[in-house]
Amino acid sequence: MTSVTTPANFTELGLIPPLLARLTELEYQQPTPIQAQAIPSVLAGRDLIAGANTGSGKTATFALPLLQKIQQQQLALQSHTEKSLAGNSSKGNYVIGLILVPTRELAKQVADSIKSYAVHFNGKIKTVAVFGGVSVNTQMLALRGGSDILVATPGRLLDLISSNAIKLDKVNTLVLDEADRMLSLGFTEELSALLALLPKKKQTLLFSATFPEQVKALTQELLNNPIEIQLQSRDASTLVQRVFTVNQGEKTAVLAHLIQQQQWRQALIFVNAKHHCEHLAEKLAKRGITAAVFHGDKGQGERSRVLDGFKAGEIEVLIATDIAARGLDIEKLPVVINFNLPRSPSDYMHRIGRSGRAGEVGLAISLIDHEDYHHFKVIEKKNEIRLEREQVEGFEVDEVINEQLLAELLAESKPMAAPEGSGKKKRKKKATINADIWSGYSETE
Ligand code: AMP
Repeated sequence: MTSVTTPANFTELGLIPPLLARLTELEYQQPTPIQAQAIPSVLAGRDLIAGANTGSGKTATFALPLLQKIQQQQLALQSHTEKSLAGNSSKGNYVIGLILVPTRELAKQVADSIKSYAVHFNGKIKTVAVFGGVSVNTQMLALRGGSDILVATPGRLLDLISSNAIKLDKVNTLVLDEADRMLSLGFTEELSALLALLPKKKQTLLFSATFPEQVKALTQELLNNPIEIQLQSRDASTLVQRVFTVNQGEKTAVLAHLIQQQQWRQALIFVNAKHHCEHLAEKLAKRGITAAVFHGDKGQGERSRVLDGFKAGEIEVLIATDIAARGLDIEKLPVVINFNLPRSPSDYMHRIGRSGRAGEVGLAISLIDHEDYHHFKVIEKKNEIRLEREQVEGFEVDEVINEQLLAELLAESKPMAAPEGSGKKKRKKKATINADIWSGYSETE
């Protein structure tokens, strides 16, 4: 695997002027490590397998070379036939670049990013997003005459193929974004069906935060002599993780206290079940805090409205299930709070990755009561982190439980890799927080 090198500037990566102009407008001053390492090889047509954390800038890593490739193909075709690629292929409901993603929100987000990167191509590159949960007719209309880039969730794409709204025989670039998530969401059969419809000869780019066996198998099946990039875990200085022990039954009070005391501009709170979202929102409302909820039982219109409101900063507190844990890019989100711990250790990383993106300072807090204690240790172990247990001033854990926690900790503590800055030092018996410790993380903008 390639190790991280000093990022070059975008011009050195070989990108064409319309893209460079756009990156300047977006104030991307230099490529992120994955962009610096991958873009030149992807432009050269190589397959890629990348283990990139959320927030690493991976969308641009595949989107910029894909746009450049399609633009160059269009120009070459025009000079030969005086026809655009779209014109040439309009009968077949063609797709040139296919990006498969696990969730509706990610499909929309990725398509929006691509459209934004392409603004200086004078609208000649057509990008369409298709995903379930909304009317298929509008998407069929959008696909008429083909699309240069299609961002899709697997199930809806198969539906569209079976109704002849789309054909995959002209695809020359395939991107699998969040491959691990797609497989864990049960898209294995859909993926196999889709892959069978794709031309053998194509460039394939696979992104995955983790590499379980299923992803490795997919990689072997799909990739041809790929370049491999495994980024080191996120820079510890940009995302601070903290864990607070609380008494059972006091989580809501602690949460409300933190929200009110810290005055974060925004907070994303994760719970484990859809109905918990509404319960917690009601409990917070009684304490004077208005929160919106986001989960899979909401209609697509409502989901989009809430997400757009949160992205625009109109919604300050959002309570969500893990549906919001992957891929979502909320600019400058100051804090993510695990009100309930995620079941899977990898979901912990995905959840906390919503904050501290693109080099911003971020904070991830987990509230654990006695019942969560063992599970949090599993999460730490799997993710090779070790966090000091802290307490919130005014909500100290009852002495009996505290003693119990300490006993467990001492009995089971084994040497583990500590994240930079978290300290391998001996844990203090009781670490309380005060306003000074927090000052670096409260909203200052
Ligand atoms: P991603 O990991 O693709 O979801 O990107 C995370 C965020 O980083 C998005 O808001 C991007 O717009 C932003 N971003 C991507 N590349 C850069 C860059 N080179 N400089 C600054 N921001 C970037």
